[in-house]
Amino acid sequence: MGYTFMLSYCAACKRAFTFNPLRVPSIILKDKEEEGNQPICKPCALRWMKYHPEVKFTIPSDAYEPVDENEIPWDYITNRKTH
Ligand SMILES: [Zn+2]
Repeated sequence: MGYTFMLSYCAACKRAFTFNPLRVPSIILKDKEEEGNQPICKPCALRWMKYHPEVKFTIPSDAYEPVDENEIPWDYITNRKTH
């Protein structure tokens, strides 16, 4: 058994960050190169929450923590578009 995390660039600020792919907040992009849900970093998620206080939203406590590798479905890894 092992733990893993994903490394990607934040869809909002473009900084590299690590996250749990099953729990991280994401945004939907309609750009041709980066289509679909894209993860956002904790500072950007907190900033979004500040500007949208009317929306009930909480960041999962494990959103930016390593995840048990057995919890990640194999098709998530093989079908995920990367950028
Ligand atoms: Zn960000």
